[in-house]
Amino acid sequence: APLTTAQIREKFLQFFESKGHLRLPSHSTIAPDPTTLFTVAGMQPFKEQFMGAPAVFDGQASKRVTTAQKCLRVGDIENVGRTLRHCSLLEMLGNFSFGDYFKREALTWAWEFLTSPEWMALDKSRLYATIYKDDEEAFSIWTQEIGLSEDHILRFDADENFWPADAPREGPNGPCGPCSEIFYDRGPRYGEDTWAEYADTRESARFLEIWNCVFPQYDRQDPLPDGTPVLKDLPFKNIDTGMGLERIATVVQDVYDFYSNDVFAPLIARIAELSGQPYEGPQNVSHRVVAEHVRSVSMVIADGSALSNTGRGYVIRKILRRASRHAYLLGLREPVLHTLVPLVVEAMGSAYPELKTEQARVEAAIRSEEERFLKTLEGGIQRLGGMLESVGRGGTLGGEDAFLLYDTYGFPVDLTKEIAEEYGVSVDEAGYAESLENAQNIARAGSKYGKSELFGGSQEALEGLSATEFVGYDQLEAQGQVL
Ligand code: ATP
Ligand code: MG
Ligand code: MG
Ligand code: MG
Repeated sequence: APLTTAQIREKFLQFFESKGHLRLPSHSTIAPDPTTLFTVAGMQPFKEQFMGAPAVFDGQASKRVTTAQKCLRVGDIENVGRTLRHCSLLEMLGNFSFGDYFKREALTWAWEFLTSPEWMALDKSRLYATIYKDDEEAFSIWTQEIGLSEDHILRFDADENFWPADAPREGPNGPCGPCSEIFYDRGPRYGEDTWAEYADTRESARFLEIWNCVFPQYDRQDPLPDGTPVLKDLPFKNIDTGMGLERIATVVQDVYDFYSNDVFAPLIARIAELSGQPYEGPQNVSHRVVAEHVRSVSMVIADGSALSNTGRGYVIRKILRRASRHAYLLGLREPVLHTLVPLVVEAMGSAYPELKTEQARVEAAIRSEEERFLKTLEGGIQRLGGMLESVGRGGTLGGEDAFLLYDTYGFPVDLTKEIAEEYGVSVDEAGYAESLENAQNIARAGSKYGKSELFGGSQEALEGLSATEFVGYDQLEAQGQVL
């Protein structure tokens, strides 16, 4: 039988313990520093050590550390259901060196962990790597020492192979460096594209990014007045790697996507059972969104974030409402999300005991939010009923009205269409798209969303979220671009 997600997590930590690393527990999903709302990467709790602070943890000195860090990426919320590789909550497996080992060990150990029969036993011929454009050191380690063939390597600029992405040009200030990423070829079942083509497309269901090995050796500082980036050498060279547990589990278990792995499959099955809707066809987006979002919200509430209209609580509310909305689309009219929490606890409670101790509180918080949101949806249905009456059978509901329902009640346009059709009324979709775009343009002006999620300031990220909430996703869904 293939390794379970829990076994893979444990093996990773054991492997790096065998290489002299100190195993530390995951930090909370609540970010350790004020630059982001949530923890977004395994390295975030160790920024000080990268900058030269003593590497002492609970009285134990160690320049080598390994963790499985739970992370929440606000910028990926809309990707959930749309791509098959993004979770909003992910576990990042990491090994870190604070001025101890550097590139050679980082890359050769990553290779050993992935390919050795004792560990992940992946087929070497399916592994690929990217490097920073002029990183000859990484190139020679990959080709000379590890034996990866040259045509399995691509060179990218700082937009891909620097972390944080594009740090030299755009910031943020602080530790940064070039990186080398490892990809796994999932085979022709996922596409006929080639590795060489990935250089142009940068998007593939077949070549899956699994591990980012970052070499933080610079302290990015304010650029010169003419814009020239300033990268100061850090006091010593560091290693920061992050591998997505959900992604490596998908690869090791050889399943279609992470929704079919041992953590998510029971959730998906329960959602299909509760709704009576099989997990197939375009509607399976809804099963996925519900399953993923319930998991992430459970963890974040267990970590002590409360639902509210600001900050983290606001993000949780948005994620929950997105899940509720998709449950509604599946025909579920009663609060059900909270009944899925026990499955999350079962899958992840031994690695994250806070899920167990906080289970009752998590269920209650989710339930009351679901009830509120269902009432809002009902309000939207009543409002829509009035609109349909005045439009009359055979007429067309204006795009602005459809947008108003969405904007005011969070009322999904696909639902509007469904109900309108039952009344014999069509919906001006072009007009809806236009209203949506106007709103998006207003939102975009003044928000540098995306980049800001990493280290640019939480307030900015939040504003970006509140203004563009769900919008991009709806549009993609409407265009049938859901993968
Ligand atoms: P992608 O290009 O697929 O969005 P990324 O380059 O943004 O990934 P990194 O910031 O390099 O990801 O994070 C390190 C690793 O964490 C990735 O290689 C991947 O395995 C995992 N990872 C990142 N984002 C997600 C996510 N939203 N869901 C699941 N795993 C993720
Ligand atoms: Mg990403
Ligand atoms: Mg990437
Ligand atoms: Mg990456």
